[in-house]
Amino acid sequence: MRKIMMFAIKEHERKVALAWAKNNQVDVTFSEDILNMETVDQLKGFDGVTTQQTGKLDNRVYGRLKELGIKQIAQRTAGFDMYDLEKASENNIIISNVPSYSPNSIAEFAVTSALQLVRKTHLLEEKVREKDFRWQVPIMAKEIKSLEVAIIGTGRIGQIAARVFKAFGSKVVGYDLYQNEQAKQHLEYKDTVEEAVANADIVSIHMPATDDNHHLFNAELFNHFKDGSVFVNTARGSIVDTKALLQALDSGKISGAALDTYENESPYFPKDFRDKEISDPILKELIMRPEVILTPHIAFYTDIAVNNLVEGGLDATLSVLETGTCETRVN
Ligand code: NAD
Repeated sequence: MRKIMMFAIKEHERKVALAWAKNNQVDVTFSEDILNMETVDQLKGFDGVTTQQTGKLDNRVYGRLKELGIKQIAQRTAGFDMYDLEKASENNIIISNVPSYSPNSIAEFAVTSALQLVRKTHLLEEKVREKDFRWQVPIMAKEIKSLEVAIIGTGRIGQIAARVFKAFGSKVVGYDLYQNEQAKQHLEYKDTVEEAVANADIVSIHMPATDDNHHLFNAELFNHFKDGSVFVNTARGSIVDTKALLQALDSGKISGAALDTYENESPYFPKDFRDKEISDPILKELIMRPEVILTPHIAFYTDIAVNNLVEGGLDATLSVLETGTCETRVN
């Protein structure tokens, strides 16, 4: 029987993985460890591996995998920026992801976050906890229907978010490196990201992290934002210069931000820090700021998405073992 190791196994994944193992007649073993040079030897005697890396994978792991006869790593997320694809290929390691496990999960979360910021529910909750039940100007909201929304990155997730905002009656504009015919049903494309954000009350980003978009959202771009707009990032932390965002919040240029990802999140998300110190001053500030809604990279976290991620990672692993490749390989 083929043997697959699931690294970084989470409690919510076990049931789905066991059902998959039974259906596919594969022996699946769980390890809560992440894959690194200290843990890679757990793969001795295994045929394949699936994991859910968060930080960058140590480049030495690829060579060790090759020595152990492992031919692939199936990442159980859509993002695969934690892998050095060239180094993996040099060692004949196929990297795969699960590209579209549930775009609705992330799009719905982005819309939820935008609604919270615009309807100021995060500020209201705080006031109610203090037993301050007054109707006051700072918590007066706007109607989503009256707002303009900019969707930056109009792929799978961006298009769903655009469709939902359009259903509210909002004007939806978009920017992408490549315009998409289907997306045009839901949004009006602008030629540059600066034009897209210029009149937007809500800016929501939905693009992968690439070498070209590191800190794309910096002080210069925030200057192009409409005064008092809100910013939602359910994409990747590295796309945003967080210090510049904090300055834009200080100046009131941006009135609120919902961040599901943060550029230096990997030591923290998704871990329990209740009894531990956070040493990152920027993260501390994001947690404390009333106008920031910070969430631990959780937009994907629904039952449907978890099922698809577990099955997607295991299917890709088995496919490489049986056919030498898989549809979701990224290198
Ligand atoms: P997708 O590949 O379908 O669409 C991404 C779009 O971004 C593409 O149309 C691409 O052309 C565009 N793009 C790339 N670089 C760009 C740039 N510099 N400027 C403008 N557009 C650019 O991807 P998707 O499935 O819609 O996912 C989008 C992103 O959402 C993922 O890459 C990932 O970073 C993020 N994500 C977050 C979570 C979460 O839990 N928070 C979960 C899954 C995915």
